[in-house]
Amino acid sequence: MTASVTDQIRALEALAAVDAELKVLGDDLQQERSALDSQRGKLNELEEKLKNDRAHLAAIDKLRNEYVVEVRTMMQQLEHSREKMNRARNEREANAAQRELEELRKLIRDREDEVGKLTTDADGARQQIDAAEQEAKKVSDELGATEGGVRSKLAEIESRKAERETARAAAVKDVPPQLYRRYDMIRQKRGTGIAQTTTGTCRACNMSLPPQLFHRLRREPMIEQCPSCHRLIYYVPPQAQASAEVSEKS
Ligand SMILES: [Zn+2]
Repeated sequence: MTASVTDQIRALEALAAVDAELKVLGDDLQQERSALDSQRGKLNELEEKLKNDRAHLAAIDKLRNEYVVEVRTMMQQLEHSREKMNRARNEREANAAQRELEELRKLIRDREDEVGKLTTDADGARQQIDAAEQEAKKVSDELGATEGGVRSKLAEIESRKAERETARAAAVKDVPPQLYRRYDMIRQKRGTGIAQTTTGTCRACNMSLPPQLFHRLRREPMIEQCPSCHRLIYYVPPQAQASAEVSEKS
């Protein structure tokens, strides 16, 4: 009976050690993936911005070209009005032609001002596009350089994880099914399923155990649950604690 509980504790410790490794591997996978995802996201954002900036520039250029054509047409009208003025047969006709000329000149000046403003806007938009293109190229190059490395790292972690999953399946077989179910339920909720006590404190949650419970745990090998964190708890003598800590960290 006593040997059996000791064996159960050993089996739980072996399983908990594999689970700790799996947790690290899972975290590593997530970290590598999110680094890659964030670079990809950045590139997508830049490409989206470039698309908008290019459409904006095309709209400015289109309007500017329309205004340039308008100015050209009004210049022709101006020429026409000048001829009309030269041909004026009386003062009334001359005045009318003069007014037409002045109006056209004003319209042409306004349109030319607009063309000037649009040219400035277009230059600004082009500079922004150039900067975004350079940034996108930089991110794309970085992604190209790291992607291969990250992919092989991911594959390596995946294969280690698969190997540890196999080890876990073997470790699970050494734990009595009912105990395993309790362990795994706690592990899923708390991240880890077992805890030790040496001085009457749960080493997982640092809460003091009721003296009677600690007394029972210390009297003979026994697996109980910590009343605070519900992890499966057992007693580890002071000298064994040091070696347990070393094996936990390695
Ligand atoms: Zn606890």
